[in-house]
Amino acid sequence: MTAPRSKWDPLPTNPTLLSLCIGVLVLGACFVGIHTRLLFSLASLWPANALLLSLLLIRPEANRPLTWIVATAAYMTADLLTGGAFGASAILNGTNLVGVAAGLLVSKLLPCNVLLLRRPMDTIYIMLMLAAASAAAGLAGMVAGPMLFGMSGVRALDLWLTTEFVNYAIFVPLIITLNVGYRADSMTVYGHRGIAWRQGAAIATLLASVGFMHVSGGPGAIAFSIPALLWCAVCFRPATASALTMATAVWLLIAGPAGQIPFGFVLSEVGDLSSYRLGVAMIAIGPFAVAGLNAAWRVSNEALEVAATRDELSSLLNRRAFMDRGRKALARGNASQFCVLMIDIDHFKAINDFHGHPAGDAVIRAIGALLNSSVGPDDFAARIGGEEFAIGLQAVTPAAAEAAAERIRHVVSQMVVPGCGDADIRFTVSIGVADHQNHAELGATLSAADAALYVAKRNGRNRVVATFSMATEAEQAPAELAEPVMRVG
Ligand code: GH3
Ligand code: MG
Ligand code: MG
Repeated sequence: MTAPRSKWDPLPTNPTLLSLCIGVLVLGACFVGIHTRLLFSLASLWPANALLLSLLLIRPEANRPLTWIVATAAYMTADLLTGGAFGASAILNGTNLVGVAAGLLVSKLLPCNVLLLRRPMDTIYIMLMLAAASAAAGLAGMVAGPMLFGMSGVRALDLWLTTEFVNYAIFVPLIITLNVGYRADSMTVYGHRGIAWRQGAAIATLLASVGFMHVSGGPGAIAFSIPALLWCAVCFRPATASALTMATAVWLLIAGPAGQIPFGFVLSEVGDLSSYRLGVAMIAIGPFAVAGLNAAWRVSNEALEVAATRDELSSLLNRRAFMDRGRKALARGNASQFCVLMIDIDHFKAINDFHGHPAGDAVIRAIGALLNSSVGPDDFAARIGGEEFAIGLQAVTPAAAEAAAERIRHVVSQMVVPGCGDADIRFTVSIGVADHQNHAELGATLSAADAALYVAKRNGRNRVVATFSMATEAEQAPAELAEPVMRVG
C-alpha cells in the first residue's frame, strides 16, 4: 500500500523534523485524551493511537526508529506529567504501540493506493485494517488488564478492543480524507453554488437529529443521527463529512456515558460501555464508507466526462462538446452576437511527411494550448477534426470576431515547434469566420465558416476570410497586427 505525497502537505519533508512533528502531535493527542478522561470519566476518547497510525500511513517514510522513539517518549511524557506511574504507563503505552504496529503491518497487505479512496472497497479495507489493529491492542490488553487492574483477560480484551476500535473508526477517516482532499484537483463539483442549500439542510438535519436524540431518548436514540450523517457524506467533501461524523461520535462518546442522553438505562458496567462504544464505531463506519463511495463515484464520473467531451491530444473540447456548448450558448444568449471561427493548419500533411507524425502531434498540441489560453470565459474552442479547430465567440460583433481571428492567425505564424533533428517547424493557419445572424442553426453557421475557410485556402492560405467581407477578400492581403494579443474574446 503506497500513499503518494500531497501537492500541499502541512507535514515537514525533512525526515528528522517529520519524526519530531509526529511526536509533538502525538503528545498533544495524549493530553487531549487524558483531559477528556479527567473531565468525562467514562468518555475514553484516545485519539493518539489513531493519529500516530494515520500519520504513518499517509507518510510511510516516517515509519522508522526515530519516529517510534519520539512517539514512545511522547506517550510516556504525557502520562508522567499528568501523574501516571512509570511502570503502569509503560505497560499501557506498550499496548497502544502494539495496536499501531499491527495496523501498519496489516496495511502492507492491502491493495495499492487504498488510502486515496478511489475504489468502492477502499474504505472497507481501511476498516478491516483498523479492526486488526484494535484486535492486536485487545490481545495486548489481555496481558495489561489483569496485571494493572486485576480484571479478567476476557473483560480486558473486550475493553481494549472496543475502545481502540471506536477511536480508530472516529479519527483515522478524518486524517485519511484530509489527505485525499489535498490531492483532489477534480472534486470541484463539491464547490458549485447549487449544492450549498443541500449542505445547509444536511447540517440542520444533523443538528436536529442530535437534538431529537436528547429530547426523545430511548434505547434506539444512539442511531438517530445516522441518516443525517449519510446525507452529509453524500453532499460534502469526504474530509468535511468525516469531521461531522467525528464530532457526532465524540459527542455520543461523551454525552452517552455521562447520562446526558435519556437511553432509559445507565451505562456503567464495562460490558455496557464496550457495547456502546462498538455501536458508536459502527455509526462512524457507515458515513465513511458512503463518503468513500461518493468520492470514488465522483472521480470516475469526472474522468468519464473528460473522456467524453475533451480531445486527448489538444485538451480542447471535441466536436460533440463544441456543438453542445454552441447550441446551449445560442439558446441562452443573443444569437445575433455569436460568431464561429474555423481554423485549419496549412499544409499540415507536409509537416507530417517531413518531420514525422509525432512532430505533427506537437503542432496540434501547441495550437491547442494557444487556443485554450486565448478564449475568454464565455467562449469555447474545440478540435473538430484532424488539423481543424473551431472557436465559438459569444457577445461579439462580426468585426471583433474577424479581428480575433486575425490575432490568432498572427500569433500562430510566429510560433515555433521543434521538428526532426535540429529543424524548427514554423506553420500557419487559415481561418474562416461566420456570424450566426443569418442562420437557423449552429450547423449552418459552421458550414458558412467552413466555406469562408475554403476561400482563404484558395486565396493562398495564412489568411482570414469572413463571410460578411468575402466579396472584398480576394483583393485583401493579410494584415499583420503590431500587437500579438492573446485574448480573442
Ligand atoms: P491544407 O493546407 O489544404 O489544409 O493542406 P493539409 O495538408 O493541411 O490538409 P490535408 O487534408 O491534405 O491533410 C491533413 C493531414 O492531417 C492528413 C492527416 O494525416 C493529418 N492528421 C490528421 N490528424 C492528425 C493527428 O492527430 N496527428 C497528426 N500528426 N496528423 C494528423
Ligand atoms: Mg490543413
Ligand atoms: Mg483540413
